[in-house]
Amino acid sequence: MNIVVCIKQVPDVPSIRINTERMTIIREGVDSIINPLDVIALEAALHLRERHGGRVTVITMGPPQSEEALREALAFGADEVVLLSDPAFAGADTLATSHVLARAVSRLKPSPDLVLCGLQTVDSDTGHVGPQVAEELNMPQVCGVSEIHIEKPFLVVKQVSEGLIYTLRVSMPALLTVSGEITLPHHIPMADLERAFTEQQVIKWGLEELGLCADEVGLSGSATRVWRLFKPPPKRKGEVVSGSAHELVEQLMEKLEALSILDEEPAGE
Ligand SMILES: Cc1cc2nc3c(=O)[nH]c(=O)nc-3n(C[C@H](O)[C@H](O)[C@H](O)COP(=O)(O)OP(=O)(O)OC[C@H]3O[C@@H](n4cnc5c(N)ncnc54)[C@H](O)[C@@H]3O)c2cc1C
Repeated sequence: MNIVVCIKQVPDVPSIRINTERMTIIREGVDSIINPLDVIALEAALHLRERHGGRVTVITMGPPQSEEALREALAFGADEVVLLSDPAFAGADTLATSHVLARAVSRLKPSPDLVLCGLQTVDSDTGHVGPQVAEELNMPQVCGVSEIHIEKPFLVVKQVSEGLIYTLRVSMPALLTVSGEITLPHHIPMADLERAFTEQQVIKWGLEELGLCADEVGLSGSATRVWRLFKPPPKRKGEVVSGSAHELVEQLMEKLEALSILDEEPAGE
């Protein structure tokens, strides 16, 4: 059972900043983490490997600093990690990102039986990448799965959608995107982290190794352009009231009455 897990390094949400000129998220000098659902996808892959054998390969497309995320994946227990990085990949939209990931998956040996992605990321949050990679690889796909079982040559997966629970049988190779319910990540022992950051190898592939041309990746290979990016202004100005519990109740009642939200006199029985 050979499994590929796609992970994305994302800014830790509280430290997100935006370059309003280029309309991109500033990733340099910002604390980064592995997208939380991708850690869960990796954990699910490790469970499947434990039960069915095989290898877990983790790939990411991103700037050189994404190597850290891959080293963390090694510490989690991945067998092999591949960094897809090239200056030509900068400015990629979800389509150009998916193109690079799909090409990398198709170049892996042995070819995978299963590709796992998160359902969505915490930064761009489109949920496009998994389905687009599946389309490009011509693989069946199921999004937002919360259970995966292997009944060769099929996968049997559970998907919760719009209040209904679906059990689906999917032929392999397939691509699944996972929801948060599938499992919980395990704790990484310090020694595994140290080995991953000092001894283990990160494979690096750029444009040339992937056999891609500059005009099919990055900004040139993108089908979309960000036109405008801004924080919406807060809808209402907040007001902080202070005082004892009794005073606070009085002040709040006065304000609610002034806004005609409460009647001045309580209605009689
Ligand atoms: C016009 C345009 C320009 C952009 N320019 C830039 C830019 O210059 N720099 C920049 O950093 N971003 C840029 N972005 C954002 C970038 O396209 C997205 O971050 C990226 O395509 C992933 O989209 P997402 O986060 O919505 O992923 P989703 O579709 O929400 O992710 C779902 C899953 O796909 C997998 N996945 C997603 N991205 C990756 C990845 N990179 N590697 C491996 N697995 C992945 C993960 O498993 C993830 O959980 C740009 C977007 C647009 C539209």
